[in-house]
Amino acid sequence: MAIEKVSFEETLKRGVVERGLCVGCAACVISCPFNCLEYADHGPKIISECKVCGICARICPRFNLSLPSLERIVFGRERRNEEEFGIYKRILVAQTTSDEVRAVCQDGGVVTSLLISAFEEGIISGAAASHESVKEPLRAAPKLALSRSELLECSGTRYTYSPNLLALKEGVQKKIGKIAFIGTPCQIHALRKIQAFPLKKYADAVSFSVGLFCSESFTYDGLVMGFLHGKMGIRPEDVARVNIKGKMLLKMKSGEVIALPIKEIREYACSFCSACPDFSAELADISVGGLGLEGWSLTVIRTDVGDEIFRRAESKGAIKAKPLEDKRILDLLIRMSRRKRENLIKSPS
Ligand SMILES: Cc1cc2nc3c(=O)[nH]c(=O)nc-3n(C[C@H](O)[C@H](O)[C@H](O)COP(=O)(O)OP(=O)(O)OC[C@H]3O[C@@H](n4cnc5c(N)ncnc54)[C@H](O)[C@@H]3O)c2cc1C
Repeated sequence: MAIEKVSFEETLKRGVVERGLCVGCAACVISCPFNCLEYADHGPKIISECKVCGICARICPRFNLSLPSLERIVFGRERRNEEEFGIYKRILVAQTTSDEVRAVCQDGGVVTSLLISAFEEGIISGAAASHESVKEPLRAAPKLALSRSELLECSGTRYTYSPNLLALKEGVQKKIGKIAFIGTPCQIHALRKIQAFPLKKYADAVSFSVGLFCSESFTYDGLVMGFLHGKMGIRPEDVARVNIKGKMLLKMKSGEVIALPIKEIREYACSFCSACPDFSAELADISVGGLGLEGWSLTVIRTDVGDEIFRRAESKGAIKAKPLEDKRILDLLIRMSRRKRENLIKSPS
């Protein structure tokens, strides 16, 4: 299909960046064949004259996003109305069997265990994931994880935005071989647009994707520096882990747990999250979230590729799984998915 050739300024700058809808995923930056864009201040910055190839507008998850057309490519059909959290093959409650993973993971450690299992089986050479910034505690930063210890280092959730596609670019540039991609729903949308286009150098490199359930991410300046540090007097470097389960739970390095009401942090949510229709990463090969579970991950296996990756981890003994029996969890997943779809501000075109 011929690409409509419109400049970055006329499409993404005007329709996405200037309207405050840019998520900062870096899809445009990594897809520009002329390297006209760099990633700066949480978004694309034009550094040389746009060559008007039109590719960035085709890849952006906030520009002309059509989930039904991506569903047709990923699943061969569109989602039916009753498939409220997307198309899937199996839904399970799962947990790591590794004490090492359990010590550092967010919920059931499913993401890290899947990655370690695929890495040890030689299915992937690394993962485009996210770790805690070395310089700024509690800030998420992209990380190309190339060993078991680096995959463990990525475990756990940082609630600020991490442009993991930059780690994918690094892996492709370094020609490391097959890569697993981990990301929030908007990042999975970008990845699927890249595969659908296709931008072959990235499409061919990705072995499978793991999507994280996501209500919203938060600004570092607002949540960490403004609220936690400024208002509550909590030093980011003293916090070992953050989880959000009805409340914001801070596990301090001292062992103390501090619970903060969720309504106090809502104002620090990233405004661009209001344009997202997807809670459960409906286009990923496997989607994982914590919802109301303690020490387990709700795991939605969506594609044949995802099924194979999960089965191999399970048969290796890296993960144990059981059917989802608690209807309240399923109801919550449906409610969260509806809420996201209903909040949708129409994607610009
Ligand atoms: C911003 C954000 C909001 C979320 N909101 C919800 C929610 O509302 N409800 C819910 O049920 N679950 C939510 N999750 C998912 C949840 O926090 C866990 O990531 C998920 O349950 C997997 O747990 P695990 O123990 O299997 O993962 P782990 O084994 O701990 O692995 C976590 C993986 O997440 C990746 N990661 C960590 N932080 C980020 C980030 N900022 N951006 C991209 N990748 C990252 C790491 O690379 C790691 O590979 C959210 C995650 C994020 C990043």
